[in-house]
Amino acid sequence: VRGFEGHKVAVLGLGRSGLAAARALAAGGAEPLVWDDSPEARDRAEAAGFAPFVPTRARPFEGVAALIVSPGIPHLYPRPNPIVARALAEGIPVDNDIGLFFRSWATPDWDNFDAAPRVIAVTGSNGKSTTTALIHHILEVAGKPVQMAGNIGRGVLDLEPAGDGDVVVLELSSYQTELARALTPDIAVFTNLSPDHLDRHGGIGGYFAAKRRLFAEGGPDRAVIGVDETEGRFLANQIGAGPGDDRVIRVSSGQKLDGPGWSVFARKGFLAEWRKGRQVASIDLREIAGLPGAHNHQNACAAYAAVRPLGLAPKLIEQALHSFAGLPHRSQLVRERNGVRYVNDSKATNVDSAAKALQAFPRIRWIAGGLGKDGGIADLAPYLGSVAKAYLIGHSARDFALQIGDTPHEICETMAQAVERAAAEAEPGETVLLAPAAASFDQYPNFEKRGEDFTALVQALPDG
Ligand code: ADP
Repeated sequence: VRGFEGHKVAVLGLGRSGLAAARALAAGGAEPLVWDDSPEARDRAEAAGFAPFVPTRARPFEGVAALIVSPGIPHLYPRPNPIVARALAEGIPVDNDIGLFFRSWATPDWDNFDAAPRVIAVTGSNGKSTTTALIHHILEVAGKPVQMAGNIGRGVLDLEPAGDGDVVVLELSSYQTELARALTPDIAVFTNLSPDHLDRHGGIGGYFAAKRRLFAEGGPDRAVIGVDETEGRFLANQIGAGPGDDRVIRVSSGQKLDGPGWSVFARKGFLAEWRKGRQVASIDLREIAGLPGAHNHQNACAAYAAVRPLGLAPKLIEQALHSFAGLPHRSQLVRERNGVRYVNDSKATNVDSAAKALQAFPRIRWIAGGLGKDGGIADLAPYLGSVAKAYLIGHSARDFALQIGDTPHEICETMAQAVERAAAEAEPGETVLLAPAAASFDQYPNFEKRGEDFTALVQALPDG
């Protein structure tokens, strides 16, 4: 990391990204001072040779040039962490690993493509990881040197050095984009917007504002924007200079975008690319196993649009889409048994992602519940027509039962019971779908462990 040679920099939060920030600062000639509320984390960092930041001192920020904050630490809402609040009050620059990354990596000009790594950054409410992984996969198939980091895989400051012609694909959460003091990707992708994590952003306005920062004035050379919600249309309107401008590539799942600009959309199972009022490419998405459902068609369109400006041919992208295996815990086919499909969508932690999963299969035995979010699942009502029966688990099981009204359901408490009951009742042609519409923390450490539990239980069902 450049820009802090000879300066002390405080690092708050010593998880993966905090430790990577401390290492990168030290490598750049700065002196990192580290702090975490957990004594074990502090011990580990000190064992690794980092000096402590001591927030209880009378003047903790004396001689400190900046404070680097981990994504898990509240920096603004519902109320800032006291150390962050103090730094802000004293006028100490507050930043995160993403900001450090963009300050240190020169962003070259668009006309001189081969001069330095290109950075593609993906944000949005849902589909970020899938879109990011898909972009990475397409570029790998195309033989481009590419690395993936951010909210997926490794931390941005753990990337290998990259040079001319390399591509770096970043998944950025709203927490990351909100705090970063520099955000200058070459290509920025906005997948979609739905309410999530609103408590941490002071409402939907703050949440949208955090994501929009990727597209600020002087921002990306290309903006790939999902326009299926008003917010996306608004954003595209702000960036595009008008008809024929190809700085914005508009993306949709469902709408035909055949206007004068540049667009990529999915309709009736086909991806179409249009430019200046003419169709330039078409891809049949229906048989692509790793990308089931309209929501994944949206992800395919976004990934396609993100790599097209790099000069990749539609045929090559099509081939790469076919070899994409999908990510675990996102609409992942676990097993077929007696004509019943078992699908793990443990990552469907909010209402919008669960709604998408419920639309992706015709008749569903739905396993849902966990730690429900504010507002519950009342908004899922329009999507329950495909549900033969719901098997409700966890803390919110009874609340969910009230909110789904007439849809057949049973309270199962545990995942084991839900899988057993759903498997016993499912008929050929149906899908047993884990799409919880809730966080996992009441019964599991994270959504991955929840998905693994479901997968193991499904694998253990006897044949026949
Ligand atoms: P993120 O990284 O934004 O959380 P993921 O790709 O991990 O996105 O997917 C999160 C959840 O949302 C999964 O349940 C997935 O099936 C669902 N999903 C994936 N893509 C979309 C999309 N484009 N729109 C809505 N839901 C989606």
